[in-house]
Amino acid sequence: MLAATRRGVDILRGGGNALDAVIATVEALENDEYFNAGYGSVLNIDGRVEMDAALMVAEARTAGGNNGRDYVPEARAGAVAAVSRVRNPILLARAVMETTPHILMVGAGAERLARRAGIALCRPDELITPRAKARWRLMFERKLMTAETADGREGGTVGAVAIDSRGALASATSTGGMTGKLAGRVGDSALIGAGVYADASGAASATGQGEAIIMFALCREAVRNLSMGKSAQVARATILELGRRTGGEAGVIIVDRRGRLGFAHNAGAMEVATFDPENGIRHYWPEPIT
Ligand code: ASP
Repeated sequence: MLAATRRGVDILRGGGNALDAVIATVEALENDEYFNAGYGSVLNIDGRVEMDAALMVAEARTAGGNNGRDYVPEARAGAVAAVSRVRNPILLARAVMETTPHILMVGAGAERLARRAGIALCRPDELITPRAKARWRLMFERKLMTAETADGREGGTVGAVAIDSRGALASATSTGGMTGKLAGRVGDSALIGAGVYADASGAASATGQGEAIIMFALCREAVRNLSMGKSAQVARATILELGRRTGGEAGVIIVDRRGRLGFAHNAGAMEVATFDPENGIRHYWPEPIT
């Protein structure tokens, strides 16, 4: 996680933009088998990988009037759902945003776009790690032994949010979803407003029970709540509210337009790394809030 964070930090320190920084960070996490995204994604009920990813960026652009002092926030987004043949779904989400008039693409059309955008395709099996296979087997064994209806959640979804020196705010999220999910199930991580959101006031990325996050529109809600407080308090209040309203478990990371960072979760665990010029990179395992 720290190595992935450094990739984003290097981009921002070199004067790069927030979108490149969150994409580079998420791409590095997708490539690491430890995380449930890209290589190392968890397996669906059929033992296959189906990944979701999305990103959103809000940039201030000069409208031209009022001697160039009129800034108009412009937001763009891209996403893919249930893709099985790309190592880095977040790069494909970027291609959707930058090379099509659409926001969310799935299936054969998304793969065709990958080819056109020069994103290498792989065999679906190449994304399966021994660890993912073991988790999948364990899920069946547990169900057989205890007849539980556990959904096999173990997390590992990845996400990043950033603000750059020009004030652009970006968010990116990528996941293999949940072990044992039905084939074709799409979670929050592919949906703008649920697993990812950015506008002129802030950017957010989510993890946790996708169905609860979708019903609550978690990231949209978190960014909207920034009008009522600082990122840290907003993260806590928004997660508590999600818990109250849906009974679900989730985590969120937020940056606001002044660069203030916030994160909170009510799930088993969530690992977080932060960077700001004053404090450098920091690493946390925040306690769940109740
Ligand atoms: N939110 C992801 C999903 O529901 C899973 C996770 O974050 O653990 O697909």
